[in-house]
Amino acid sequence: MEVKKKDIRALTKEQLRAFFVSEGDKAFRGNQVYEWLWSKSAHTFEDMTNISKDTRQKLQDNFVINHIKVDQIQKSADGTIKNAVRLHDGLIVESVLIPVKNRTTACVSSQVGCSLDCRFCATARLKRMRNLNPDEIYDQVVAIDKESRLYHNRPLSNIVFMGMGEPLMNYNNVLKAIEKITSPEGLAMSPKRIVVSTSGVPKMIKKMADDEVKFKLAVSLHSAIDEIRTSIMPFNATFPLKDLREALEYWYAKTKNRITYEYVVWDGINDTKKDVDALIKFCKFAPSKVNLIEYNPIDDGEFQQANSKAIDMYVEMLEAHHITVTVRRSRGKDIDAACGQLANKS
Ligand code: SAH
Repeated sequence: MEVKKKDIRALTKEQLRAFFVSEGDKAFRGNQVYEWLWSKSAHTFEDMTNISKDTRQKLQDNFVINHIKVDQIQKSADGTIKNAVRLHDGLIVESVLIPVKNRTTACVSSQVGCSLDCRFCATARLKRMRNLNPDEIYDQVVAIDKESRLYHNRPLSNIVFMGMGEPLMNYNNVLKAIEKITSPEGLAMSPKRIVVSTSGVPKMIKKMADDEVKFKLAVSLHSAIDEIRTSIMPFNATFPLKDLREALEYWYAKTKNRITYEYVVWDGINDTKKDVDALIKFCKFAPSKVNLIEYNPIDDGEFQQANSKAIDMYVEMLEAHHITVTVRRSRGKDIDAACGQLANKS
């Protein structure tokens, strides 16, 4: 009977070192292999050229490397690239490379599908299949870093967890992935260049504060009025604004990190003065930034982006209250790569 081989990247460095010791080899061999697996991102044991043939065979007999495979690359007229990423079990997620001036941002997925049911988001139409493992998140970043070097002659500079899924519902794996991404043994990227975006899971926001994470937090708010938010993000019924706000106050008290709110203004939904008043009141407790993001239509046309007058009203009122506000244009719309459009269409 064939024994099911273990995913070697589920092992810590210590466990890898212990494996070699138990095999009568040197612990140091574990460090070498660890380096191949992470900072050198080897796809096969064959790639590990400073490891003897016998040792590579031993690894082959005991483990697998569940590497992702970038199945398909779509390129937008604006330089945005969308990867369809095939996981070892055949499931697919998407990640996006977004070039802006002299930066490159990777937008990565944290789950296959999503368990939240945001009415305006295409990913919500796919039910949540499973959480991504830390290595599957890490590999998406490596793939985009490679593409950035290839197509834009520069390494990846920023990462946003704004692809498929709710990162705080896969918190442990997201955290492990970020540890690898920021570690000198991984990609050595600064945590300050990483943003985790959440619909707002209060308990997990507090946990992040307790864990003293160094990356940034963005909250997809879209409305600061409970009835409206619940009607577009049903999840708000379970985690109402009062709880979200309390968690964010806790976050700010501990980290002193500014909070970014993602916000789409829709016609007839949240485009009145009352909506802006509520937003101002909601985010006043801590230094905040509001990103007014463009709505990317998904198939059914139920939602319409509000007109520019409504957007201008938001900007003027927020600025009058000294709240930083930016109006963001979408990228990669023509290839369904913009926020909320990731749905494995092709
Ligand atoms: N679950 C996380 C991250 C994924 S969504 C979160 O909710 O933050 C990333 C961002 O895209 C969120 O701000 C989300 O509200 C927004 N979004 C979803 N669908 C969208 C759409 N159709 N147009 C514009 N933004 C959308």
